[in-house]
Amino acid sequence: MAVSHDLAAALARVRERIERACARAGRDSDEIVLVAVSKAHPVEAVRAAYAAGLRVFGENYAQELAAKAAALEDLSEIRWRFIGHLQRNKIKLVERSRATVDTVDTVRLAEAISSRAAARNVTVELLLQVNVAGEAQKSGCAPEELSTLVEAVRALPSVDLRGLMTVAPHTADPDDARPTFAKLRELAAAHALPELSMGMTHDLEAAVQEGSTMLRIGTALFGPRPDVTR
Ligand SMILES: *Cc1c(COP(=O)(O)O)cnc(C)c1O
Repeated sequence: MAVSHDLAAALARVRERIERACARAGRDSDEIVLVAVSKAHPVEAVRAAYAAGLRVFGENYAQELAAKAAALEDLSEIRWRFIGHLQRNKIKLVERSRATVDTVDTVRLAEAISSRAAARNVTVELLLQVNVAGEAQKSGCAPEELSTLVEAVRALPSVDLRGLMTVAPHTADPDDARPTFAKLRELAAAHALPELSMGMTHDLEAAVQEGSTMLRIGTALFGPRPDVTR
């Protein structure tokens, strides 16, 4: 994050976009959690965002999450959400931060999270990631596999399945994401799941329109991500 980047002003602009989208959709913005996606930005950027009033942060890489959570333990109200692809051998890095895992897309991963959580006497909140548009390069279970996955995850003792998450295909017109978001909403309703994590910097208005309860916003808050090669 550039030192000159004014996080408070960026946050005000994002909140304004959310308020306007909510007004158009006839929704109350209190129903929507703003998840600040801090991946690739330094700990100081998270501190600035916390000081500006944000409490929920999203990270994509287990190692980076673990390091940031450890460095920011003094921020007593901070909450982490893991929104990247999680390998089973990295679960322990995520659990130290007490993050939710918003990207579960296999029974095997959910089982591994649950058994580790059981051993630690905790319950881990989960979302299931759905590849609604069936894009080859994207994670997430196919919509047709969701019922089986929901049933298996609900049977596990130490996870709390709260909802669904998706990343819409990137298109020039953000309104093109609406059918993807609408489909996720229908899938969640069919399984009585309350949370819908959908909508990013580019398409947050479309997501609000289609019922998002969690917006994952990076660029609009923190500016462009430094180019990191992984
Ligand atoms: C990086 C990322 C975001 C944030 O994207 P922006 O376009 O910067 O708002 C949201 N969700 C996921 C899964 C991401 O990987």
